[in-house]
Amino acid sequence: GSGQAFAEFSAGKAEDVSRALEAAEQGLAIWRDTAPAERCRILNCAAMLIGERAEYLSVLEALDSGKTLDEARGDVRSCARLFEYYAGAADKLEGRSIPLGKDLSCWTEREPVGVSAHIIPWNYPTSNFARGVAPALAAGCAVVAKPAETTPFTALVLAGWLGEAGVPAGVVNVVTGLGPDAGASLVRHPEVAHITFTGSVSTGVGVMQAAAPSVTRLTLELGGKSPLVALADSDVDKVVDGALWAIFSNAGQICSAGSRLVIDRKIHAEVLEKLVGKARALRLGHGLRHPDIGALNSHAHLERVHAHVEAARRRGRSILTGGNPAVDPETGKGWFYEPTIIDGLPRDDPAVQYEIFGPVLAVQIVEGEEEAAAIANGTEFGLVAGIYTRDIEKALRLARAINAGQVTINDYWAGGVEVPFGGNGKSGFGREKGLEGIEAYVRTKAITIRH
Ligand code: ADP
Repeated sequence: GSGQAFAEFSAGKAEDVSRALEAAEQGLAIWRDTAPAERCRILNCAAMLIGERAEYLSVLEALDSGKTLDEARGDVRSCARLFEYYAGAADKLEGRSIPLGKDLSCWTEREPVGVSAHIIPWNYPTSNFARGVAPALAAGCAVVAKPAETTPFTALVLAGWLGEAGVPAGVVNVVTGLGPDAGASLVRHPEVAHITFTGSVSTGVGVMQAAAPSVTRLTLELGGKSPLVALADSDVDKVVDGALWAIFSNAGQICSAGSRLVIDRKIHAEVLEKLVGKARALRLGHGLRHPDIGALNSHAHLERVHAHVEAARRRGRSILTGGNPAVDPETGKGWFYEPTIIDGLPRDDPAVQYEIFGPVLAVQIVEGEEEAAAIANGTEFGLVAGIYTRDIEKALRLARAINAGQVTINDYWAGGVEVPFGGNGKSGFGREKGLEGIEAYVRTKAITIRH
């Protein structure tokens, strides 16, 4: 993000992926037969190691990704919590007994699906590694992870620490490399039993197609265009703060960012005046110097974000603030983007329909609860939503009406690793985090005895 080279990694090829999968098969043979209580103990030990070494990992992640050190610390905290949380699930994967009458006994067992492949994005490299790997390990699966090309560092470090914690050799493997090369070889490989993919819709569709010939299971988390809905009776200052961080956290590079503000006309002027003031005051800068907003992850991504904004400008849309690339004020370099707010957008505008994945807020003005619900649902995505109102009945009606995997009332970011997360429609399918997060890595076997 600073525009300076930081480290070099090798680009893994198909043969590296094959070697990693061979190792994973051997690791799986040991790990699936490791007693659940022992898996629990080892994952707890991993969580402790990550906690003790959190600052090291956070600095590494800030440097590798361009995010601020505080954001990197948050990413690392969630990573440790994910190992702690799923450690506690490892010894509770119970089956049930099914009554079939006097001569039969039947029960279910929940066995690991096998080797799981994890294609990891660059926006939260550390916690996204743990979000898939921790439940996979708790379930007894072995793992081959392919971190994003721009942010492979923490996955490699974590794989080493998992070994120190007691995860046997071969159980966790990391192949660095390019998506269309190492990533594509991994997801089409018939040895892979399950794929966890987080990334863009177009790449996700390709992964689904690559998985089809082997009928490989999938969890897809493909982003969104999530609304923060503010009704006329909401607390304006809470809306302003909620909207500010819903879109500008991590420089907007969050699948679940509140990238649309769906706001009632009655409070529109007041909220936008305050929001624009706060957006203008945000300081950009190198992640280790504690700015409000860090860099975008790569130059290519900066160009993509800017192209969306330029297209909106050409369409004559009203850009209230921002709208330009920026540099680190100290060095005059880097891949930063000004916090940007585009006002009064019609429902079919590309800035409303496409995930820009940067610090760009699309504002849609509505009148009343019904229009708010229709506009909130007016994209192909369905990941998260925030609902601001003081009227509990309206809040609950909207929470039910809005198409999203998770809805928060009177806040935007709430809850942690305990809360299931995932999308509807083009946001993908499957749920990660929470107890649901382990379902992808276990399959049910029914065993019946005649006696
Ligand atoms: P972006 O274009 O913003 O990098 P992607 O969705 O393409 O987003 O990337 C998310 C992850 O998917 C990265 O780890 C990337 O390397 C990987 N990836 C990209 N293309 C493929 C592919 N064809 N097969 C498997 N993984 C891929």
